[in-house]
Amino acid sequence: MTVQENLQTINEQIHAACQRVGRDPKEVKVIAVTKYVSEETTREALDAGIEHIGENRVEGGLDKWEALGSRGTWHFIGSLQSKKVKKVIGKFTYFHSLDRISLAKEIQKRAEEDDIVRCFVQVNVSGEESKAGLEPDEVIEFIESLAQFPAIKVVGLMTMAPFVEDIEETRPVFRGLCALQKKVQALHLSHAPCDELSMGMSNDYTVAIEEGATFIRLGSSLVGNEMNE
Ligand SMILES: *Cc1c(COP(=O)(O)O)cnc(C)c1O
Repeated sequence: MTVQENLQTINEQIHAACQRVGRDPKEVKVIAVTKYVSEETTREALDAGIEHIGENRVEGGLDKWEALGSRGTWHFIGSLQSKKVKKVIGKFTYFHSLDRISLAKEIQKRAEEDDIVRCFVQVNVSGEESKAGLEPDEVIEFIESLAQFPAIKVVGLMTMAPFVEDIEETRPVFRGLCALQKKVQALHLSHAPCDELSMGMSNDYTVAIEEGATFIRLGSSLVGNEMNE
């Protein structure tokens, strides 16, 4: 299957999911997660009309950005070590895994003057120990404290659901993130409009869309996984 063909199938799924809950499909943006594929396949995704590219590793991500960064909007979706912030800042437009003050400090320090860095606060809604992110009840205080960093704008919340056989089991996780978003929005913080929800991957994106996702992060179902071939 080509990326173009995969994208067509995915777009049909997005439309169907939106129709089920009365959402406008334009609210749902697809991030092609290219961590398991080559620069060539990443180019194929951009050629197919994909606007958003997601990488979770600094090294592999930067190689692709050097080659293709003049096209598309780049998202850093993985956990980011503070010492690596300086390598990626100014190149990736969105950071999906802000989960600690030390990282916010480093982003502030490395950002160009007057630069705004768009961040998602990562939340561990499911409570799985292996997952990164803040506990849900830590989120409000954390976001309030980010007001001290003028370079940081909290554009939304991000979560990863557990990998399960029955994707219905992911629904409470996505619903929980959406409820948390409403609480943040009710604070009307100028540094945290929190309009976006980054949730849903290849196996569970239809449920995530039904629960309000605005960015879905798709790797294997969209661009494939060349590591397994
Ligand atoms: C790898 C990855 C994805 C995409 O995973 P697929 O299941 O292949 O779609 C999404 N989000 C994050 C944070 C990832 O690391």
